Amino acid sequence: MQKHDPIPEFIEVTPTARISEAVHGWKAKCLQRLVRLDLPVPKSVALPSFTVRSIAAGHTADAAGILACFGPSPLVSVRGSPANLDWGGPASVLNIGLNADRHARLAETHGETAADALYVRFVQAYAIHVARLDPDLFEDIKPGPGALAEVLRLYEVETDEAFPQDPARQLSEVLRSMSRAWEGTSARLLRAAKGAPADAALGLVVQDMAQGFGQGLSGSGVIQFVDSVTGQARVTGRYLNQSQGRAALSARESLYLTKDARGPSLEDVAPDIFADLQRFGAICRVGLREEMQIEFTIEDGHLFVLDAVKVARSARAGLRIAVALAEDGVIPKEEAVLRVEPRALSELLHHQVDPRGPRDVIARGIAASPGAATGRLVFTSDAAQASAARGEPCILVRKETAPEDIRGMHSSVAVLTERGGMTSHAAVIARGLGVPCVVGASDMRLDLRERRLTAPDGRVFGEGDVLTIDGSKGEAMAGAAEMLPPALDDSFRQLLNWADTFRDIGVRANADTPADAATARKFEAEGIGLCRTEHMFFDEDRLVAMREMIFADTPGDRAAALARLLPMQRADFVQLFEIMEGKPVCIRLFDPPLHEFLPSGREGLRDLAEALDRPLSEVTRRAEALSEVNPMLGMRGVRLGIVLPEIYDMQAQAIFEATLESARRGAPVVPEVMIPLVSARREVELVKARIDAVAAMVRSRAKAEFDYKLGVMVETPRAALRAGEIAQHAAFLSFGTNDLTQMTYGLSRDDAGRFMNTYVQQGVFPEDPFHILDVDGVGELLLMGAERGRETRPDLTLSICGEHGGNPESIAFCRKAGFDYVSCSPYRVPMARLAAAHLALSEAKVSRDAFRNEEVKS
Ligand code: PEP
Ligand code: MG
Repeated sequence: MQKHDPIPEFIEVTPTARISEAVHGWKAKCLQRLVRLDLPVPKSVALPSFTVRSIAAGHTADAAGILACFGPSPLVSVRGSPANLDWGGPASVLNIGLNADRHARLAETHGETAADALYVRFVQAYAIHVARLDPDLFEDIKPGPGALAEVLRLYEVETDEAFPQDPARQLSEVLRSMSRAWEGTSARLLRAAKGAPADAALGLVVQDMAQGFGQGLSGSGVIQFVDSVTGQARVTGRYLNQSQGRAALSARESLYLTKDARGPSLEDVAPDIFADLQRFGAICRVGLREEMQIEFTIEDGHLFVLDAVKVARSARAGLRIAVALAEDGVIPKEEAVLRVEPRALSELLHHQVDPRGPRDVIARGIAASPGAATGRLVFTSDAAQASAARGEPCILVRKETAPEDIRGMHSSVAVLTERGGMTSHAAVIARGLGVPCVVGASDMRLDLRERRLTAPDGRVFGEGDVLTIDGSKGEAMAGAAEMLPPALDDSFRQLLNWADTFRDIGVRANADTPADAATARKFEAEGIGLCRTEHMFFDEDRLVAMREMIFADTPGDRAAALARLLPMQRADFVQLFEIMEGKPVCIRLFDPPLHEFLPSGREGLRDLAEALDRPLSEVTRRAEALSEVNPMLGMRGVRLGIVLPEIYDMQAQAIFEATLESARRGAPVVPEVMIPLVSARREVELVKARIDAVAAMVRSRAKAEFDYKLGVMVETPRAALRAGEIAQHAAFLSFGTNDLTQMTYGLSRDDAGRFMNTYVQQGVFPEDPFHILDVDGVGELLLMGAERGRETRPDLTLSICGEHGGNPESIAFCRKAGFDYVSCSPYRVPMARLAAAHLALSEAKVSRDAFRNEEVKS
């Protein structure tokens, strides 16, 4: 290996200088790249981070040595150069080297006014950043003839010494103060919040001043070539005559850059310089493989590039920029895919509150379903439906939602609940519908009788008042916030199509209704991983038949009620199969406790008695008999299937008849039938025997063949532990991590919201386990289940269908464990596709790098 000399205390930025991002910081390295691209960068000198550290620790910088690089009468600026620009850094100081002597010469060449303005500006910056004087001191000084004398006098009064005249001393003090500022507590906290490591380093850059003042065309500005919010190609920025730094951005008299009807532009005033800027932009884009914002100065008609930074961008702009760079061949597609954060996609799928607008937050809770919407407040599902019928967007506010609120949720543009957590009913349904939702907003008070919501600050909102729900941030706001529309455009689709070519784990959607399935298709899910069939029974006509089935006195009556449900179920499945066009559809048999289909209040029970033509007392008694102390652990899932097998028989018949119907219509499908809440092998044996018998019956009646797969949902700890024997009867296992988390922790999905914040704040749980998969506990059950299942049946299909299925962390876990696919709510499918591609690409990169290292060693 080649030996290098030690890194010098400072180094001139030339095309071949040994400058690295890690040692000298991002800015120094970027300047070197600009120099290599032959852009007119003023002479610059980079100080590595160890020099900066030693200056902060009390060593004196070799200021005279640095200044010697800049000729006999230097005038320089100093800029911070952190390893990552997002970590911030000390403010730049300009015009170091200005003193009485230099001021006099400047007055001769540039005129008194310009010379004064520069000197005043330097003395002020020095006073504030180096001598640490209060900025307010200078507030009242009026620009003009007396300003310089006043600033110098103030400096002397406050510091007990005259303003330093020696350029080397000035530079040395500036370097010292910038180095120390980086080590200060508030700077540390600020950058730690942005993800900087504790030992984050700062380099510094000393640069020859390009004067934005002069006789000929002189000034400064910034320019970028894409829009920061949309990512579309568009020149933005400003230019200010006779100015320095970023003054152009805030001054009213700044010029536009391109020709503009609103006023004069740089393109009008100096077309050649504008053309050069455009050329430099194109060179940067290709050379630095990024959209850059360029800081420039014009000195007597000569253009200088002082600095370039990555264009600040929203998530949607970031995606569009990455795709455009790849389409233009500037970066490979793999890199474009890796440049977009999977979680950032949710911002593109929904309306977002415009970050530039005001926010009047009235309540905070858990951000349960992303996106934002504005509507009028309603407190009941009926009111929501009425509002939707009037074409008025509404926000449904409930203490918590129940299955009977589904239609109300469908009718609302957003949902807000007082109770609940990430996997409570409202959260799961809202995510499935793509409706913004905030749950567990426990600081607000709800008075449902009076139809009033009282915010923690005492403000009261009633039915019809306008609110905005920001489900991405977990906030409810008063009034209508300004919005950004979704951005499901060609760039979005292109990036995800590239992602699909790289990923190696499947992504399906949880979809219960034709509308969900259509969304799943829109987001290009590879199939349905979980269809919760019970959601199909909440429509008015079905609910009546369902309730008749529940109240049936004899198996015969039950069969009659189910016979009415059969064609409706069959039609549901035909529709799903049709929408999914032969892609796999995994249908979960009926899961919830039956009492969820009964009304809760007196009024509802009376209506029910009327509908069923039975006495109220009997209906009330039967409803009470169905209620359970602990329904989530009671008669639900496969237990219902064993005790009341006719329900599963009907569902299996509907699935198989729909399968035949789809084949007739030219969309053949192999349905996957899934048994919920299994905890013992015998349960699977019993259900399988009946379903196989139904299949045989349908085949023989129709005189036609079809295939299907039978699998098990692993959502009790025992099912995971006994996966080996359960897999004897199952072609696939799908881990329902919502219930599995609930049962592993003994933690109610619906009540955990009450204490989850405290638990996470106090570090009891690192994260809400309903939100981020608990890899230590629940994850261990997943691994055990997967391993034991595959021991029995090596070709066993493994998947996850709990809410965790869409999280990048859970996808990484499942991919590593050899799962075949993840299934998540339709709106999370894009994020899952991108996250899966990131995992495969990052792994490929790690092994490529390891291979290269091996080669270098040998
Ligand atoms: C689960 O328990 O993880 C699951 C997907 O089923 P549900 O949320 O319907 O209980
Ligand atoms: Mg479940």
